[in-house]
Amino acid sequence: MISPHLSSRLPAFEAGSVWLAGAGPGDPGLLTLLAAKALGEADAIVHDALVGGGILDFANPGALLVDMGKRAGHPSPRQEAINERLVELAREGRRVLRLKGGDPFVFGRGGEECLALAEAEIPFRVVPGVTAGIGGLAYAGIPVTHRGFGTTATFVTGHDKAGGLPADLDWDVLARLPGALVFYMALGTIGTIADRLTAAGKPPMTPVAIVSSASTEAQSVVETNLAHCARDVVRLQAKRPAIVVVGEVVRLRALIGAWQQTTGQHPSSIAVSA
Ligand code: SAH
Repeated sequence: MISPHLSSRLPAFEAGSVWLAGAGPGDPGLLTLLAAKALGEADAIVHDALVGGGILDFANPGALLVDMGKRAGHPSPRQEAINERLVELAREGRRVLRLKGGDPFVFGRGGEECLALAEAEIPFRVVPGVTAGIGGLAYAGIPVTHRGFGTTATFVTGHDKAGGLPADLDWDVLARLPGALVFYMALGTIGTIADRLTAAGKPPMTPVAIVSSASTEAQSVVETNLAHCARDVVRLQAKRPAIVVVGEVVRLRALIGAWQQTTGQHPSSIAVSA
């Protein structure tokens, strides 16, 4: 997938090692050179559900593909089972690519896998990826930070181990932060998120964007605000995976999103309920 000349300038992918790489949000153009090299050279690729066909098309045709993603109706495999599989494949002497959507350390349990590999004394390399909360927003024409629109960008998970909104979030602090709030895994809890933020003083007309399947052919965007986002998610049938961003930076989409080129033409459903 990348030229031998370029590949030789990158670190060697050793047999018996694991590369824990981010695949980005979907567009293969957002793969790093290291991730592209690993895809082409891996003997085994252990991937999750967020890594789509567009990326796996670049895999070494001889590679063993192990799908560790959530399957319709079935829960995700236990983290321990994934860790064990990685160790087992590496001990068989394979070059193992553990490929995750976005960045492996952003709500991706990459750290847990590194700890398991370290404990098993398996050599590994971490290859960061473009996270959905930055790159996915960019593909929707939303800069995660912008001078004059705040001084922070905060990543929050809308979903904890038990499946609900994490109990330890401090809504007063979140509501006061002067910048974008970016919620991962939050489509199911968006109504509660909006209620908590407004109860803590965030203006109900604060813009919200919901970007689904960012950077893929299926990308769609719902633009709304805190007061109406729960209703609009249902009304416009926003699909998973979706990233939710709350903040003034969403307003820039009208100017930036209209002019920028991304891969392919993405049909966007746009609702403005200001
Ligand atoms: N490690 C990933 C995040 C994993 S958590 C990353 O860095 O992006 C899974 C959540 O990521 C999804 O629920 C969604 O909120 C977000 N996500 C991942 N890929 C996405 C995409 N292409 N479009 C929109 N959201 C995405």
